[in-house]
Amino acid sequence: MRDLDIIVAGGGIGGLTAAIALLRAGNKVRVFEAARDFGEVGAGVTLAPNAMLGFQALGLGEKIEAQAISPTRQVVRHWQDGRVLKALDRGDGMREKYGAPYLYIHRADLHAILLDAVRELGGETLTSARVEGAGFDGDQAWIELADGTRQTADLVVGADGVRSAVRGIYEPISAHFTGHIAFRGIVPVDEVMKDFAENPGNIIGPDRLVVWYPLRGGTQLNLVFFAREEGWTEDGWTIPATRDELRRIFDGWCEPVRQMIDRLDEERLFKWAINARTALSGWNKGGRITLLGDAAHAMTPFMGQGASSAIEDAVVLARAISDSETLPRALERYEAARLERATFIQQESNDNANRLQSKDADSFDKKELRNEETLGLFAYDSATVPV
Ligand SMILES: Cc1cc2nc3c(=O)[nH]c(=O)nc-3n(C[C@H](O)[C@H](O)[C@H](O)COP(=O)(O)OP(=O)(O)OC[C@H]3O[C@@H](n4cnc5c(N)ncnc54)[C@H](O)[C@@H]3O)c2cc1C
Repeated sequence: MRDLDIIVAGGGIGGLTAAIALLRAGNKVRVFEAARDFGEVGAGVTLAPNAMLGFQALGLGEKIEAQAISPTRQVVRHWQDGRVLKALDRGDGMREKYGAPYLYIHRADLHAILLDAVRELGGETLTSARVEGAGFDGDQAWIELADGTRQTADLVVGADGVRSAVRGIYEPISAHFTGHIAFRGIVPVDEVMKDFAENPGNIIGPDRLVVWYPLRGGTQLNLVFFAREEGWTEDGWTIPATRDELRRIFDGWCEPVRQMIDRLDEERLFKWAINARTALSGWNKGGRITLLGDAAHAMTPFMGQGASSAIEDAVVLARAISDSETLPRALERYEAARLERATFIQQESNDNANRLQSKDADSFDKKELRNEETLGLFAYDSATVPV
């Protein structure tokens, strides 16, 4: 099929990638975004080779690489003394093994590339357009917007994130707090931060995790501090945080952690709850509505695969539609190709939180490594997997 009229609810990384894939396949696409402006939070994102295989198939590989950083390796260090427990190859070995690089990119830069591509391909992009509900009626799907208007199309794709309104018609259960909170900040790379920028990685320890990597030509360092905290009720993406709060949480951790906390700019230090979704048994509603990305399978970020999974969904969905004669069949094929893998990654991401935040960091290098690469996730090519 082609020439379908498709509504994408949500213009995040998943929604825009889906719009690009669907436009390239000859469909008409409108993206409805709740925010007043298209954009992304000021933070980095890791694009694993499986994400880049998807982007390469959409003709965006070079543009993305030009704005990203390709590290040579990633180190895993011990919380007490900072000693290196493992060094993971992230350099040329990635391209050789998987045909695509492992990259770090600023979310805003990636988002801008995707938005340009949607517009160049003739996609329509609407802002301040909050979707409040969705449904289908015979061979038409519809969304209802916050202003009370209704838009119809052949297909509605719910790509509206962890708090998806489209997902509301699947189950009445909202996203749940996972017991993890994250603090994020970006700092300029100076003499002290230079070593961290050149040697990206993680520091692992009991109930806590620190992740850092360079952005924008190595001029900025992306810092993420994870902690377990029960009973957190605050909600939002930009709750201000303080260095002292982090110093308390990471009390007793090694000098590098103290150095990173000291460099944070409190004006731009935010914290938020990590929410996730339980797996659904199906994404297809009446052959007219489906889900993608966090709306379908929001996961904890402990394998850095949430955005990558959304990109895979987008490429596979467009292929299933192109290769099928009816939409119900296309959505069945999309779900059959994607649901099991997405659910597996959700589960493994939770398990990885326990491995990376174990009370026993000393034994990390003695156990067999189980992570996104050893599980084979990097080898998945959304452009060629059977659909
Ligand atoms: C701390 C942290 C670190 C992470 N690091 C990585 C990483 O390194 N690599 C990786 O692959 N993943 C990572 N992830 C996961 C990744 O950020 C998400 O999985 C990814 O952003 C999901 O994309 P999405 O487009 O599905 O949803 P979102 O990015 O949430 O986009 C949804 C869009 O829909 C809009 N929207 C919401 N509701 C509505 C509505 N009702 N109507 C219209 N529009 C709406 C939103 O404004 C937004 O633009 C991380 C997550 C966290 C929390």
